[in-house]
Amino acid sequence: MPLTPTDEILRSAAQGGVGVGAFNVVQLEHAEAIVSGAEAARRPAVLQISENTARYHGALAPIGLATLAIARASSVPVAVHLDHAESADLVHEAVGLGFTSVMFDASRLPYGKNVAATQDVTLYCHARNIWVEAELGEVGGKDGAHAPGVRTDPDQARDFVAATAVDALAVAVGSSHAMLTRDAALDFPLITRLRDAVSVPLVLHGSSGVGDAGLAQAIQAGMTKINISTHLNKTFTQTARTYLEANPDVADPRRYLGPAREAVATEVARLLGLLHGTCA
Ligand SMILES: [Zn+2]
Repeated sequence: MPLTPTDEILRSAAQGGVGVGAFNVVQLEHAEAIVSGAEAARRPAVLQISENTARYHGALAPIGLATLAIARASSVPVAVHLDHAESADLVHEAVGLGFTSVMFDASRLPYGKNVAATQDVTLYCHARNIWVEAELGEVGGKDGAHAPGVRTDPDQARDFVAATAVDALAVAVGSSHAMLTRDAALDFPLITRLRDAVSVPLVLHGSSGVGDAGLAQAIQAGMTKINISTHLNKTFTQTARTYLEANPDVADPRRYLGPAREAVATEVARLLGLLHGTCA
């Protein structure tokens, strides 16, 4: 089961009441680590590449095609998703490259403009069998600011999903992007109200700021796709830092990237077990 439609992975998880880990790929080692962790846990996973990462590399294709190649060689179902695209052109490019889904993020726009821009993207993507995630009620922290106060309104969420025909909805329920501590206080009753209001899977962004117990409770309350980026980057960088401090003369990057990749794979496997409810 190599590269698998995101729809297939998310639909069966939502039906089973379990979570799906969606982990961000910044460089090749991330993609290798995430697939290796998913294979160890025998769980599906979503590999996702953000517009910011495409900008960092100067283009989407090199990191996107490498990630797709790694996904195709996986022994467990793996999807490749474009994360936080604000550019419709980048969405078109991702679809052309073979990504299985996209997140179009027009949440900074006023409601009416968010609906209109998202509608255009869903029309384009659904004509090509591509799954679309959108965001309503901007999740804070995209520019480094911790803004956990924003909340998505369930009635507006219902209207938004009906108007745009999106396949999944990212909602603001108390988490915030790029948190280095895992102490965000989620609004669990709101998650349940949102789950009851919309028929599509809900997506938790900023999950790096949520502890293990909070993630498990968020899934019980109704979350399905759990986006984790910063938490794995902390693991990656801390492992490389420890190696470099102990071996200050090292020159070959494989010497410190290798252990960092291994540490991320181990943490991905642990998280997938947690999200699936198969470990404490
Ligand atoms: Zn996000």
